[in-house]
Amino acid sequence: MRATAIQTLAAAYREGVVAPCAANELADHIWPFADKVAFHQGDITKLEVDAIVNAANNSLLGGGGVDGAIHRAAGPKLLEECRGLNGCETGQAKTTKGYDLPAKHVIHTVGPVYSASKSDESARLLRSAYRTSLDQAVRHGVKSIAFPSISTGVYGYPFESACIEALSEVGHFLDQKGQGDKIDKVIFCCFSQPDLTRYRQAATRVFPPEDMHSQFAEDE
Ligand code: ADP
Repeated sequence: MRATAIQTLAAAYREGVVAPCAANELADHIWPFADKVAFHQGDITKLEVDAIVNAANNSLLGGGGVDGAIHRAAGPKLLEECRGLNGCETGQAKTTKGYDLPAKHVIHTVGPVYSASKSDESARLLRSAYRTSLDQAVRHGVKSIAFPSISTGVYGYPFESACIEALSEVGHFLDQKGQGDKIDKVIFCCFSQPDLTRYRQAATRVFPPEDMHSQFAEDE
């Protein structure tokens, strides 16, 4: 599926697919980018975008979950290129070609293994994984990028908290002049329908409709 075929959150609001949340439920930081973020349910390896993000492990040599699916769909040349990258630190990101994937690039990032006793550190590393992936995207001229829900599989990050961290870090990045304005579309690719519902619900708190945003700005 092409990036342009995936409905933005702004369009989902307009068409009544998604209801805005109540003003008192908005996150601490809200961003005016409902027209740049989009949500899709399905397999990330099928997306025809400039880059898909891989929730990889430190070795970058493949694994289970979305990592395994990406390596299977991209073919053996991806592993060959990954072997030359010397792994990747948690919270960092490295870019390869997409090979047999419909995506031009794969941005490999490593999210944290969630630790309840170090939840602030987990959040910092998760946000860093999103931010460094977007830095890589800008560096490689990527306009459309799709993220899986990093760390929410075997790495055990609680889904709702991970959504809010991901959405607000992406909002923060999109707001940066000379960086965020170079990205046209950020797609959050959810594997299941319940995950999509939960992601969109969280997004209404971070990316409200435009009219709600201007109302909020006037109140400040
Ligand atoms: P992590 O090790 O970072 O937790 P996982 O691959 O175990 O990574 O899971 C990350 C998320 O990716 C989970 O929400 C899982 O449901 C989702 N996922 C697994 N396979 C795919 C796929 N082919 N496309 C999109 N998302 C996927």
